[in-house]
This record gives sequence, structure tokens and C-alpha cells, in this order.
Amino acid sequence: MARTKYHYYEFGNKTSKLLAWQIKKEDNEKFIQSIKTDDAIIPLLSSKKQLSTMTSNPLILTTYNAWLQLHTLLNIKIQLSGNTPRKDNPSIPQPIAHGILQTWVRKGIRSVGNLYINNVFASFDQLSEFYDLHRHNYFKYLQIRHWIKSQTVEVFPNKPEETLLESCLLDPKRTTTKGLISCVYKIVLDSSPAYDKYSKKSKWELDLNCNYDDNSWNRLLNSSQTILTSTKHRQIQFNILHRIYYTPYRLNKLNASITDKCQRCRISVGDLLHMLWNCARLQTYWNNVIQVTSSVCGLSLEPDPKIWILGDVMSLKLNSCKKYFVLLASSAAKKCILKNWKSMEPPNQKHWINELLSYCTPEKILHSVRGTLTKYDRIWTPFLDTLTTLDLRD
Ligand SMILES: [Zn+2]
Repeated sequence: MARTKYHYYEFGNKTSKLLAWQIKKEDNEKFIQSIKTDDAIIPLLSSKKQLSTMTSNPLILTTYNAWLQLHTLLNIKIQLSGNTPRKDNPSIPQPIAHGILQTWVRKGIRSVGNLYINNVFASFDQLSEFYDLHRHNYFKYLQIRHWIKSQTVEVFPNKPEETLLESCLLDPKRTTTKGLISCVYKIVLDSSPAYDKYSKKSKWELDLNCNYDDNSWNRLLNSSQTILTSTKHRQIQFNILHRIYYTPYRLNKLNASITDKCQRCRISVGDLLHMLWNCARLQTYWNNVIQVTSSVCGLSLEPDPKIWILGDVMSLKLNSCKKYFVLLASSAAKKCILKNWKSMEPPNQKHWINELLSYCTPEKILHSVRGTLTKYDRIWTPFLDTLTTLDLRD
């Protein structure tokens, strides 16, 4: 999902620049020297072939490519639009574009939209009156009318509606390109299929042989992003709950030449639960983590992956400070595993203790700023006391 969002941002970035040319309709040397006024047509071209008749500039070609991909993603066709300019437009067949169109452009019929009055394709009499066209232009009018009808057959004689992208990018209230990326990004996100967070829930339920109703699952997702204060820990928990990590099992699905076996034990298939929890070579490590944390909390904690992997501490009979410590301890444990994700050696107790201790100072600063140092003491003192009893020699 993260990868996809990055792509959406790229689409937004590239396309907003592309349409910035259209909005400005002027030379913009600061942006790129080779952009000319005529390039306003680029976003409205329907194929790379048409664009290749105008430019070979790799930046424009790449940007146009992103623009096409954006349309594919949104399931929109680039078709004749009211905003399509009529001058130097390679989409307009040569016999129609030849000669007389330039006169029309000078008289004010600059875009396809100018041929409509009250959103309906104008009659020749209406156009003659409005733009002072000579009656000799009637045949050209019929040619253009026929061509536009063929391009907008579903709506003719009505004016084709602007796409969401056009409306956003040609918004008359917009005087600068500021905010264009966000605007395009929002359209893409709104139009994308909803991310199914419950499909991940089912996979975890299957893995852990348990059941979460939708409310409990949402509470777990929310608490993973609110209780822990470190953004890194929140990110780890988000990645785990949404099963983002690339395991050997997943890599093997993408490329059969990569083994699906766990590189630590080399026996079992390295799926997500195995890599984080089930691997035989992680058992001593997790036993130590659970034993020390139990001793800190004064309660024998179950070796239950719902607690240690999913961070589900709701049902533990502990006060909020102790529950918070369990989350910190499990986050440190998971972080050590993730740091050694590709290593053949599992992390050890010392790695975990050092990782956990590194949270001590930032936590103290945070509680000090919030004026909750008493709470800090309640969370950390039992752990620091327990440390003095551990034998951490190699
Ligand atoms: Zn293993």
C-alpha cells in the first residue's frame, strides 16, 4: 500500500506540472526552457503517437506517460474536451485544420468549447453572428461539426463534461500552481478502491487461530497508532498488522529463484508469523523477553503472539503503565528481529536490552515536557531494578 501511495504522489507531482503549463499558457523559462505556449495541448492528446509529432523532449514524454497512467488508474479516457485548443492541434485531422481554422482562432474560436453556446453545439447562424464569420465558412463549419460529433458521439450536441482532473487543474480561482499536487493526489485517492483492512485481519486470525470482531480489530489498529509515542514503533506495528514486510515466502511468490525457507533455521517456510515468532531459533530470544517483562510486571505473561506480535494488551490484568511497558518491550523485541531480518543469526537478549534502554532517555524527555515524570518512574523503575538482577555477560 505504501508503494502505491508513493506512486499516487508521483502521479500528482508529474501531472500537476504538466497542467501547470496549460494553466499558465505562456513560456515558463524557470520550469523548462523548451516548453512553449502550444504545449497547452499536450494534456489533451490521446496518444503518445500524437505527442511524438510535437516533441521528443524526454521530460515531456515521461510526464505525459505519467498522465496516461493516471487516466488508466482512474479509468478515464482522454477524449475531446471543451478545453481542447484548436490551433496546432495534431488531434484535428489535417483537411479540417487546414487554412481557415487559423482565421477562426483569430476571431476568438480558440478551443472546442467556443463552438458551444449554453453547452449545446452552436448553429452556423449563431456562430456567424457571435464571431462574425463569413458565409463561405459554412462548409468548414459542417466539416468541424461532423468531426466533433464523431469524437463526442455519446453526448453530442451537448458539450462534453470536464473530467474531475480538468476541473481541478483549470479551476479559475487557482492563480498559481500551489496546491496542485494535493488536488490531484486527493482525486486519485478518492477514486481508488478502498483498502480492505479486514483482509489482513482474516490472515492474522487464520495464522493465530483466533477471532477478532471488527470493533476489536479497529481498536487494535487505533491503539497501535496512539498508545506508543515513537513514530518508528507505530510504523513497525502498522507494518506488522497490515503485513507489509517482505518475507522469504512472499519473495518466493514474486521470484521462484528465491528460496521460501527461513534463512535462520533453513527448515521451515519463512512466512510472516514464522519470521517474527515461530522460528525455532527465536524461541530462546522470545523466552528471555517474556521472562524479563513478566518479572518487571510482576505477572507471568503468556507466550501468546497476540500480545507480543499484534500488541494486543487489552485483556492483560495490568495497570496502564505496565501495559505500556509490555508494548515497549515487545516493540524493542520486534525491532531487533527486523534489524536482523536478513541475518542468519537471531537477535539475543543483549540486543533487546540495549534497544529497550535506548528508549529510556527520549521517554524521560517526553514525560518531563508533559509534566508526567511520576508516570515515567512507574513505567521504567521496575525495569531498571530488574536489570540489576540480570546476568548480561557474553
Ligand atoms: Zn526459521
